[in-house]
Amino acid sequence: MSNTDFALAVEDLTVSFDGFKAINGLTLYVDRNELRVIIGPNGAGKTTLLDLICGKTRASHGSIKFKNQEMTRMAEHRIVRAGIGRKFQTPSIYENLSVFKNLEVSFPRGRSVFGALAFRCDSEVKDRVQAVADEIGLGDALDTEAGLLSHGQKQWLEIGMLLMQEPELLMLDEPIAGMSVRERELTADLLQRICKGRSVIVIEHDMDFVKRIAHKVTVMHQGRILAEGSMDQVQNDPKVIDVYLGH
Ligand code: ADP
Repeated sequence: MSNTDFALAVEDLTVSFDGFKAINGLTLYVDRNELRVIIGPNGAGKTTLLDLICGKTRASHGSIKFKNQEMTRMAEHRIVRAGIGRKFQTPSIYENLSVFKNLEVSFPRGRSVFGALAFRCDSEVKDRVQAVADEIGLGDALDTEAGLLSHGQKQWLEIGMLLMQEPELLMLDEPIAGMSVRERELTADLLQRICKGRSVIVIEHDMDFVKRIAHKVTVMHQGRILAEGSMDQVQNDPKVIDVYLGH
């Protein structure tokens, strides 16, 4: 496969904070339909990498391409429009609005068609809300006030709000933090569903969960990639064992 066939191609990426290289010459390729999990000890640079991809932080060097389009210096809102969605750990939902409204307000009302802005009709919005609500397991809870949802449901609602924007790459930071065992299982199922037709990158610490969801695991350490492969491959890699056991 050539490097231009990947959905996301990050090449030789570096970012320095006061001379400290939080990301140091990192190269990473992610496929369409792939669910990639990034693991690594605290301070490895995982969050900074996602910040760079979504445009929150600017790279000092290197390039980020999404579907062959140069994104490295693109403004954050344009990166969202290009199809990259990011979910942080704390859900930013509207607690006093219904599930329906939360999803509806996240729908881009206008979209560019041949350079002109075309507005979506109400039935198109409604259909999309229902489809996304079904996808996140809240299809029967459209009228429920978001503040009354369980912790897990709030996280799924936020994923749904991102899905409303029709992303082709979704990045999630520790999506199961604080969830019950059952909610974790349902989240694993949800992630398997949403990576079909998209790419998904997840930062995660829970190794059982990683094993369950990852198509491929990237291990980061000191701003670089230490190992990459299946969970079995990386967990038997002596370099990875060293870093995790602190030898
Ligand atoms: P991880 O998510 O793997 O725990 P981070 O990406 O949060 O790691 O951090 C990587 C390193 O970069 C850490 O040493 C952190 O202190 C440093 N860092 C991250 N963001 C900044 C910043 N805005 N200014 C200075 N240092 C930063």
